[in-house]
Parts: sequence; structure tokens; C-alpha cells
Amino acid sequence: MTARLHLELSGLVQGVGFRPYVYRLAGELALSGWVRNDPAGVSIEVEGERSPLEEFQARLPREAPPLASVQDMTSTWLPAQGSERFEIRESGGAGDRTVPVLADVAPCPDCLREMEDPADRRHGYPFINCTHCGPRASIVLALPYDRPNTTMAAFALCPECRAEYEDPGNRRFHAQPTACPTCGPRLAYWTPDGKELADGDDALELAAQALQGGQIVALKGVGGFQLLVDARDARAVARLRASKRREEKPFALLARSLADARRLVETTGEAEAALVGAEAPIVLLRRRQGSGVAENVAPRNPRLGVMLPASPLHHLLLRRIAFPLVATSGNLTDEPICTDEREALARLHGIADGLLVHDRPIARHLDDSVGMMAAGAFRITRRARGFAPLPVLLPGPVPPILAVGAHLKSAVALAIDRRVLLGPHIGDLDTPEALAAFEHACQDMVALYGVTPEAVAHDLHPDYASTQWAQQSGIPAIPVQHHHAHLAACLAENGVEGEALGVIWDGSGLGTDGTLWGGEFLLGSAAGYRRVAHLKPFRLPGGDAAAREPRRSALALLHAVSGEWGLAAHDLPPLQGLSRQQLRLFTSMLVRGTQAPLTTSAGRLFDGVAALLGLRMRATYEGQAAMELECAAGSLPAGGYPMPLIGGSPGTVGVLDWSLAIEALVRDVRRGLGTEEMAARFHEGLANGILAVAQATGVPQVALSGGCFQNKRLLEATAGRLTSAGFTVWLHRRVPPGDGGVALGQVAVAAAELAALRGGV
Ligand code: ZN
Ligand code: ZN
Ligand code: FE
Repeated sequence: MTARLHLELSGLVQGVGFRPYVYRLAGELALSGWVRNDPAGVSIEVEGERSPLEEFQARLPREAPPLASVQDMTSTWLPAQGSERFEIRESGGAGDRTVPVLADVAPCPDCLREMEDPADRRHGYPFINCTHCGPRASIVLALPYDRPNTTMAAFALCPECRAEYEDPGNRRFHAQPTACPTCGPRLAYWTPDGKELADGDDALELAAQALQGGQIVALKGVGGFQLLVDARDARAVARLRASKRREEKPFALLARSLADARRLVETTGEAEAALVGAEAPIVLLRRRQGSGVAENVAPRNPRLGVMLPASPLHHLLLRRIAFPLVATSGNLTDEPICTDEREALARLHGIADGLLVHDRPIARHLDDSVGMMAAGAFRITRRARGFAPLPVLLPGPVPPILAVGAHLKSAVALAIDRRVLLGPHIGDLDTPEALAAFEHACQDMVALYGVTPEAVAHDLHPDYASTQWAQQSGIPAIPVQHHHAHLAACLAENGVEGEALGVIWDGSGLGTDGTLWGGEFLLGSAAGYRRVAHLKPFRLPGGDAAAREPRRSALALLHAVSGEWGLAAHDLPPLQGLSRQQLRLFTSMLVRGTQAPLTTSAGRLFDGVAALLGLRMRATYEGQAAMELECAAGSLPAGGYPMPLIGGSPGTVGVLDWSLAIEALVRDVRRGLGTEEMAARFHEGLANGILAVAQATGVPQVALSGGCFQNKRLLEATAGRLTSAGFTVWLHRRVPPGDGGVALGQVAVAAAELAALRGGV
């Protein structure tokens, strides 16, 4: 009995070698029919005996190529038509362009083997790739994903590449960025003035020599320029810091191989899996002593961010170098990463001593992604190359919604059907360059997928550039409270339906009462929330300026627990080195409450404690003091400072009061207890406090989100206690807990709001 089966698949099924895979599977089972790319995915018809057809249907999603991910598969049985062979058909015409753009992928083992093989025609070629690896998001100009719609359009395939491209049995069948030394992009080494000194292998050799000589080389990477320098050379690293205007924020390292990475940092099985993964992210790990890495790569930091080569070009360069490199984005601090070599000449002038460039244009900027190992998994903190713009799936379809994120760590998102495409990290919207990149990202998302958003979701804060852009966009705007967006993002990422208690701790976001929130306990879902508890509020002298000066938060905490007496504690570190004038200014702000907005910010609480311990009075980058407090605590076991839940307003479970903790900590500072012990007690106290709120609230699901949960100790202590007490705990993994994940939550909240409006609820 013969029959015919029609299948439609959606998900990540284009540009991943799916059709040749179907072709081979059909061949193996002696089935006839065809396979074709469609605007929404892949369509297949197979014909033959019933039992091989059923086997085909079962194996198809199971044995799909490594980069493929089948989201939906529908099947229809049809009568046999008597077809005789299996063919790969031309793409079905235009329609909606909803096939997701894939993220960029580090070279696969087959391509690396060919690159190393002197007999291979791509031996030593920096732009080798295939359907299992290579650039994707960084080269796509338009959809559908075909070569003329990529930045490879200008490179006409040579006869040999064309033959591979057209052969369904070849690994490069329809590999859009495929290239070889005859027909593909070309490497060059430039002086800082743009004069070409060499090309091909000679360019690699010059770049390697420059790095060996302690010079700074700008390399045109996958999603933008990186600045490279010998990580052992403290003077070269200092020069990079000075010219990039980046004082102390840690630099990431690029290691040649996993074996080299193991000499730099302590790894685990999960960490190594993240390092060698196709996304090739920066993984933050505990640094090893004696690795030879200069101290100023990550000053006073027990951790180092390490990544492995993300492209064939990186492999070829590192093969020539026997030491780890610092690899940091090619930009001035606070500006977006630079993507074009002509632009690089201007923007990296005075920083780079030489430029290793090529002529494959970068379609959109993608920084290196960053993540940490915490609670047993790799967790993203900066989402860009390798991950963006891969979609997060919602439980059901939603109208097209654009979300513009917040202000810091900007990233934008677009919802299409069930998918939320979360764009790459842009940066803080503080410079004209960052703002231009943000506007471009919004327009790019909408243009690429050809959708007209029905709504644009934005933060409640009226002063954010993203809010202003949304309100002037001409698209109906939906404001979303910042911490509600964090909660919704965590629930959306984990596919949680129903209510959860969101523990949302971050720097700050505007609350619905006009104060700055940041230590929040929100009970609800994307559809709505109640603020059931929060950290005890305090006044922040100078508002935003306090984020750059943790000492101000310390004064605020002292004032909150002891009034003006607290500000006379001249023996404590935050008061030392403070001029009488500064003290008078801060005192008047705190006493009168002028220019000192109320906040419940957990981030500022961390800042204040870091300053009380004498760790940091001024921050040179966002979150520095909190990170140093976390590092000080290390993994030292400790009991927690008291963190009682005190009575709140009706309908809430109360206010989490840190006053006793600050009093106890001040006593410990005075009696000279070790910094490590005090930092550990502070973290454990907070985790106890969170558990108390969860128990008082009494819902079984708890979601942890907000930038404070990039703190590994806080995350693990909190999640551990909640899990032991029987709660189901939801954590971020592929979406950052910080503001880089806010756009996802904004989409979810706006979608719920639109649904409620339409349902007349
Ligand atoms: Zn490959
Ligand atoms: Zn070629
Ligand atoms: Fe936030």
C-alpha cells in the first residue's frame, strides 16, 4: 500500500542544511517526492510504502542537523501520485518573511579540518564555512535568507564553489556565505592611516608580529571590530585602557584552545561545554594563579572572562601566537562596536597600531556575548553574537509588537506570531552613537521582517531616550513598568504560565508611585502584578550620581539607621576622605530630602555596603561596587545578618528591613571583622530575607530577575534556599537577567494588554 505524506515544518530550518538532510533521509528510505523552503519554513512531500513513511516522519525532527530546531510540524496524508524520484525544489514564492534569522556560528570541526589540510583548496582560508557553521545574522541584509540578500552578494561563486553549492549531497549545498580563496573575501593588514601593507597569509603574519611586539591590533571580527593585545603585557594593556578610556572594567581574553583556556581559568564540564559551543561566548570563570596574565586585565577581580576563537580568522591568527590575547570591543567606552573598516580608521585612530581587515561587509553589529556559570548552568549576561536574534517562543501567537527596552544595556525585540526576536546588545543610550545604533536597530528589525508593529512597548520612565523614541514613532505606545517587564521576561523565557512571585532586584527603574524601585517583590504574570513587598526605602543623595559614587549610598544607609548621628561616624570608611563641604552637602540633601529621591534599589544597597566595608567609594563602571562586594564574599560559609520582614500596607506582606543588618555590619566593621566574613553575611542575610518574603506570600513559583541576579553568590544562595523550601524557582539562561532582557518582558506585557483590550476583559 503506497501513500503520500505532506509535512510542513517551522522553526530554525533554513540555512542549516535541512533540505540536503531531508534529501538524504528520503533516499535512505527509498521515498520519492520533494522538499522546498517556504516563507514560513520547509514543506515536504514524500511517497512510498506506509511503514518507511512513518519512519521518515518519526526520524525527521529527531535526526535534524545540529543547527536546526523544529518548532512545529504538521502532517497530512494524501493519496499516492506515482512520483518516481526525490528532488529539492526552488523556494516557494514571496509571502510573509517570518523564517528566523540564525545567529552566527563558530567554525565546525569539518571546516577546521579542511582549513588545516594543505591539500584542501581552502587550506589556511580565513572565510571557510558550510551549512553547519559560519556567519548568519552578521551578513543578512534582507529575507528570505539567500546569497543575494547577504553581504556575500558581491562575491560571485567560482565554478568549483558553485558546483558544491548546487550539489544536494555536499555539505555546502546552499551554504549562502560559502567562499574560497578564488572567489571569496580577502584579508589585508593596514596601517592606522589605512595604507595596505600586506594581504592573505602575509597580513596574518604582520598582525601576529605586531601582537608579539606589544602592539594593539584592531581585528574585523564576526560582528564588529575587536581590539587585541598581548594579555601578559601590563604596559600594552595599560595603553589600551588609556586610549579606550576604560579605567578598570575587566577585559576578556581570547585563548587559542580549550587546553589553553584551562591554564587561565578553572573550568567544569558545563563551563567547557559553553566555551566550545557554537556560540563561542565569553565565559566568566575563576582565574588561576600563575597563568602569566597581567593584573590590569581584570584589576582586583578573582574572575576572568575567556572565549575561544569565534571564526576561522581567529583560529588562523591565534595559531601564530603562543600567548592569550586581550579581546575587547573596538570602540571608545560607551560607544557601540565599530563594524566598518573605513569607519574604524576614524573611530579607532589613536588606539590601534594596525588593522587586520577584510572586504566582507558586516550587516549589523554584534558584540561578543558574555555569560557566567551559576546554579549549575551557563547563564547569559550580555546577549549578542551567537545568540541574537534567536527567538524566544511564547505559548501562543501575539500581534506584531516592537519593544524598545530600557536605557542601560539596551536591546530591542520584535514579536512575530509566537516568536519574540530579541536583538543584540547595543549598550547604554548615553552617547549620540549609541542612540543612532538603537534607532537603527528598531528600524532594522521592522524592515528585515517586513512587519508593521501594532504597538510599541516602552519603559515607564519618561526621560529614557527609548521611551521618547517610542512615543514619537507614530505607533500606538504601551508603557510597561520596568520591574514588571523583568518579571514577564523571566516567565516568558521559561514558558511559565500562571502567577509567580517575581523577586526583581536591580539598580533602579521608575515605579508607579514615582519613586525609584529596585528591590521589588511582584506577584503576578505578564497580565498584571501586585507589589507585595519591597526593600525598605532610603533617600539617594544626588539621585543618579549615587550610582557612580557608592559612598553616597553608604551615607544614606547610615542616615537611615542613625539619623544625623550616622553622618558623624568619622571612623567609618565612607566618611574618611570626604571633605567638610561634601559632607555638608550630602547631609543637607538627606536631612531635607532635596535632590535625594526615595529608592528601594537593591543595587544601591549593595553599593552602600561595599563602601561601608571600604571596598569602593567611586565606581568607574556600572555595578562595580556590587561586583567587588560579591568577590569579597567569595564562597566563605556564613550566617546571615538579620533581615526581618516588617509590617507593610494592607494587601502586602511587608517591607524587607535592612536596618538591623546595617547596624550589625557597622559593629563588625568597628570590631575589625574580616571583610570576607562581613560580605558573606550580607549576602546570606538577603537570601534569608527573600525566603521569608516567599514564605509569607505563599505562592509555589518564584522568578528571580534584575541585574542583581548576575551576582552568582546571591543567585545561588537565594535559589538554593527557595528550592530546599519547596518552591519552584525560575532563573534566566538564554536571556540576560539585567536590562538586556527587558524588551522581551515588555513584549509579553504589551501582548497581554492588547489581548485584554480585545477580549473586553
Ligand atoms: Zn563548517
Ligand atoms: Zn570559490
Ligand atoms: Fe533593570
